[in-house]
Amino acid sequence: MATSNPGKVRELRQLLVGADIELLTPTDLGISLDVEETGDTYEENAALKALAFTRASHLPCLADDSGIEVDALAGAPGVRSARYAGTGSDKDNVDLLLHNLNQVPEEARTARFVCVVALALPSGDIEYARGQCKGKISNERIGDGGFGYDPVFFPEGKHLTMAQLPPDEKNRLSHRGRAVRNALPVIERILGE
Ligand code: IMP
Repeated sequence: MATSNPGKVRELRQLLVGADIELLTPTDLGISLDVEETGDTYEENAALKALAFTRASHLPCLADDSGIEVDALAGAPGVRSARYAGTGSDKDNVDLLLHNLNQVPEEARTARFVCVVALALPSGDIEYARGQCKGKISNERIGDGGFGYDPVFFPEGKHLTMAQLPPDEKNRLSHRGRAVRNALPVIERILGE
């Protein structure tokens, strides 16, 4: 898997329990690559990461790119979610999001998490799957689980933020959970070939 983000590593491991796959991180393989996410879409960024780590490891590689799209901000921060505040810090990104929404009433704070998973093969072939999770942005941080924007995101129909949900519940309804479940048949087919 093309990530060292501990939150993502934890979630991907849980999501792939039961699949006949040994999941290795770049750290496990002694690979250190800093792939710049220069694409304009989640697909492009996921492909950049998956192909770079496939080339370095000569193994099939799974990468995800994700973001949060806020309707009142015309879909921002979207594909730029990780770099929203320009400092690379989750705390700064969340502060800026709350600041930019401080005049927006509850009913207009609708948003969605989006995730694209790319599976790259050493041959250069690549396949994609997508998942999304609709919800609303809260007025303040609530909960201390998860990572990134989780403490300010209420999934649709829930009165708890993503950061308050137990991990298996987050995986059941999250954008990443859905994308990985959509990718599973593709992963199993490709690895079986
Ligand atoms: P990337 O996919 O590593 O480029 O991350 C995109 C941005 O969205 C980062 O700021 C992440 O913290 C955030 N993000 C991605 N997935 C989640 C999630 O499941 N919960 C909260 N924030 C997330």
